[in-house]
Amino acid sequence: MEKRFIYADNAATTCVSDKVLKAMIPYFTTAYGNPSSIYKLGRDAQRDVEAARAKVAKAIGADPNEIFFTSCGSESDNWAIKGTAERLAKKGKKHIITSVFEHHAVLHTTQYLEKQGFEVTYIPVDEKGLINPEDIRNAIREDTALVSIMYANNEIGTIQPIDEIAKICKEKKVIFHTDAVQAVGHVEINVHEQGIDMLSLSGHKIHAQKGIGALYVRKGIVLPNLIHGGGQERNKRAGTENVPAIVGLGVAIEEAVKNISEKAEIITPRRNKLIDGILKLPYTRLNGDRDKRLPGNLNISIEGIEGESLLLMLDMNGICASSGSACTSGSLDPSHVLLSIGLKHEVAHGSLRLSIDENVSDEDVDYILDVIPKVVERLRSMSPVWEKMMKGEKYE
Ligand code: PLP
Repeated sequence: MEKRFIYADNAATTCVSDKVLKAMIPYFTTAYGNPSSIYKLGRDAQRDVEAARAKVAKAIGADPNEIFFTSCGSESDNWAIKGTAERLAKKGKKHIITSVFEHHAVLHTTQYLEKQGFEVTYIPVDEKGLINPEDIRNAIREDTALVSIMYANNEIGTIQPIDEIAKICKEKKVIFHTDAVQAVGHVEINVHEQGIDMLSLSGHKIHAQKGIGALYVRKGIVLPNLIHGGGQERNKRAGTENVPAIVGLGVAIEEAVKNISEKAEIITPRRNKLIDGILKLPYTRLNGDRDKRLPGNLNISIEGIEGESLLLMLDMNGICASSGSACTSGSLDPSHVLLSIGLKHEVAHGSLRLSIDENVSDEDVDYILDVIPKVVERLRSMSPVWEKMMKGEKYE
């Protein structure tokens, strides 16, 4: 087959769409006012920031005054968790509940808080990467300040029972935050209907630029500032607004939520074809639940190979993929997500994540399915681990 270029790593980041780019350009050239300025150029920028806020709010079923722009998903997570912890610690609530397989933006934040004297319960996930909401109910205590559970996992794409978790938190009067960085634009979200108190999202996963995010904070919850300074974002998040990026996020999220089910109808069969095709190889397994997963995500462990070598060979064939989360690739530690669903270290090391969008065509899928078996065969033929496996010998 003729070599192609295929971007199958949309969970790591996405390209800025033409529509988003077009909407952003004037804010670099002619409409560059500071939203805090009193003259028209500034007032216009302020108006456009507010229009973008309304779009973000509408996309997730919130009110505009519940949306705060941040610099990224990580900042949103940090702010939601540290802010709630700081506020509720004063009322003697120093216990936080999260899961073992959150993104590091959450896990490193809770680890930091542990060092500050907070107690954190890490809820396990089952072998399919799903949380049992009853585990959360059982973990909630009198002094629980916050439950933070991701909407969809960035590596294995599993979608968590968010409605049930939110219901339990409401019953127990505990604030519920969800990191929805991977879910927004792929699953229908309505924070008010679902009873979500705080939600993090990020622009660069939905065709806006990198370095823009938002935090939804339900009316009535008061978060202390993470960033102090000027009076931007209703005095809650200082720093001159990144107007082009905010406008871009507004356009991107509006587009992303427009045709969620139609997009899923295109992507899911292609994703399933990839799963079935790759699973034909011996000694492979699908990581994460087959159905309760993001439409474009597949994560498969391929025994007897190193994920990094696989990625390099796929790259040589024009395919961009990932083996762990983007933030941890480059590290040799096996992914904490794959270990959390019970994979052995050596199996976790040989994992492949493809995250496709509607731009990955049927022909691209056929190309990927042509390349992967050849590459795997080549890598296995050079692998001492594979040789031992085939001889039935023990290997580490
Ligand atoms: N949360 C999840 C689930 C993610 O996948 C990511 C990025 O990969 C983040 C948070 C961090 O988002 P950002 O890159 O905007 O800081």
